[in-house]
Amino acid sequence: MYRIRLHGRGGQGIKTGSRILGSAFFGAGFEVQDAPVYGAERRGAAMSAHVRAARTPIRERGVITRPDLVALVDETLLQVPAANVLLGVDAASVLLLQGNGDAETWRARLALSGTVVVLPAAGERAEAELGGARCAGAAARLAGVISRPQLIAAIAQELASLGPVATATTTAQALAAYDAVAPHAGVLRESRPAAATAFAAPEWIDLPLESARVAAPAIFAAATSVEVRTGLWRTMRPEIDYARCNRCAWICSTLCPDSAIRVRADRSPEIDLEHCKGCMICVSVCPPQAIRALPERAARARELAAAP
Ligand code: SF4
Ligand code: SF4
Repeated sequence: MYRIRLHGRGGQGIKTGSRILGSAFFGAGFEVQDAPVYGAERRGAAMSAHVRAARTPIRERGVITRPDLVALVDETLLQVPAANVLLGVDAASVLLLQGNGDAETWRARLALSGTVVVLPAAGERAEAELGGARCAGAAARLAGVISRPQLIAAIAQELASLGPVATATTTAQALAAYDAVAPHAGVLRESRPAAATAFAAPEWIDLPLESARVAAPAIFAAATSVEVRTGLWRTMRPEIDYARCNRCAWICSTLCPDSAIRVRADRSPEIDLEHCKGCMICVSVCPPQAIRALPERAARARELAAAP
């Protein structure tokens, strides 16, 4: 059985990628499961998707805690403990990482003994929106059992409702990734079925049941949401052009769902990047189009270049 876990952020196509990969395995004659795991739908929040493919009926259920392959669309998730990207990764696991740098550097940085394959970055838009499909294409090649026509057919099937343009764009990106990892074709091996005796409990904490009066959430202080740094979810950053802003003083600040835009005394808006989650609502509602969307990586690179 192949056990494959995809990690990324809401909006990066992780769920779509797992569906494409599952359908491609199915087209290649495998039994398949695929399931995404995420909470309330939030663009930018960490999420994962789990694909199992086997030549015999699959009796395992639930999240994959011992992956043969982890495909990571967004390397910034390695800094987010809750994303648990490296859960269960051992010497037999393959890590596929979309990003920059070489495999040996990543192996050393993450203290991994298994195989690391870097899928070269392909531009902000492709990474931001088609990362799941790119990693599906690369994973298909790493497994070495899915042909190009089977991958193309899976994308056509899964994206049929989105029309020919989306299908063509996604197919081009997935095939580029399929080709980019060609030197590693077949590096992903099927692991044998796991015996129940080999089960290792995942690293979560069991809490004893308590009565609802004790266990129900209770918030005793105001403004606790400031402790949640939703700015970590962001892949795109809103940036205000103050020369275009007409100081309407309410539209962007009122419609920001995270109350991350303050209005200064001079009526100019100010974005709190610690809590801006990058939903881009402010970009779309500003009448004079004074707020633009900047890829987060480009913004960080600019900050680094400007640092003393
Ligand atoms: S909505 Fe636009 S014009 Fe109004 S305060 Fe915000 S940035 Fe300025
Ligand atoms: S509306 Fe703008 S400032 Fe508010 S969270 Fe969304 S992108 Fe950030």
